[in-house]
Amino acid sequence: KPVLRLAGIAKSYNHGKPNEINVLRGVDLEIATGEIVALVAPSGAGKSTLLHIAGLLDTPDQGTVHVSGDDMTGQSDRIRTRVRRGDVGFIYQFHHLLPEFTALENITLPQLANGVGKSTAEARARDLLREVGVEDRAGHRPAALSGGEQQRVAFCRALANQPQLLLADEPTGNLDPATADQVFATLMGLVRGTGLSALIATHNLELAARMDRQIRLEAGQLVPMVS
Ligand code: ADP
Ligand code: ADP
Repeated sequence: KPVLRLAGIAKSYNHGKPNEINVLRGVDLEIATGEIVALVAPSGAGKSTLLHIAGLLDTPDQGTVHVSGDDMTGQSDRIRTRVRRGDVGFIYQFHHLLPEFTALENITLPQLANGVGKSTAEARARDLLREVGVEDRAGHRPAALSGGEQQRVAFCRALANQPQLLLADEPTGNLDPATADQVFATLMGLVRGTGLSALIATHNLELAARMDRQIRLEAGQLVPMVS
């Protein structure tokens, strides 16, 4: 069973108005276990809309979304939220860490919210911080970390609850090119090491080429990129 399956996804905004915009026009996508897929899309193409639908933050007008084999179409908000918190990890261009909490706490808190005990959650947080090479920053708040370190901690938070699927929107887009390159390598190592599936949006074709498969969002549909 694919970890993510989108079939016939359509989404438009401003329905029936003169400024109606059909952002997605029949999107089909399957991501297998352990597969890392690059999503390449010009700004405004509908990348965020697609990621939000895949991550159960938004619903399509038409089509079906399966996460970990389960049909999410028409499910209640309560069930969609539970699946999202359990099965999906999100990474954004900006870290969105909680400023009042340390790096360790930012990774521990989502686990506590999911019912994991404190010592188990902290041990997992430390393991993750070690994997991305920032274990010595565990006690610092986000403001005390460099941009690259902040993103590394955000990766750990996204993986804290052991999701099946990682959705990332320009995960290194905020960093200078040299840092972006290193931080991206860290992300790839983390994802490959855990064997989870990922859909990673990027404008950077060099980064896209390091993933298993590249697709482009064009005129509301996904088209494979030939390299
Ligand atoms: P991307 O992430 O690729 O830049 P988005 O998915 O954010 O694209 O948006 C795709 C298009 O849909 C854009 O033209 C945007 O202005 C429009 N759009 C996005 N969200 C809304 C909304 N809530 N209401 C109306 N239009 C929207
Ligand atoms: P929380 O446990 O903090 O209530 P949610 O279940 O609301 O989290 O969200 C799960 C994930 O989805 C989080 O990583 C959060 O950053 C992200 N998220 C929630 N709402 C939105 C949104 N409107 N736009 C983008 N990402 C969101």
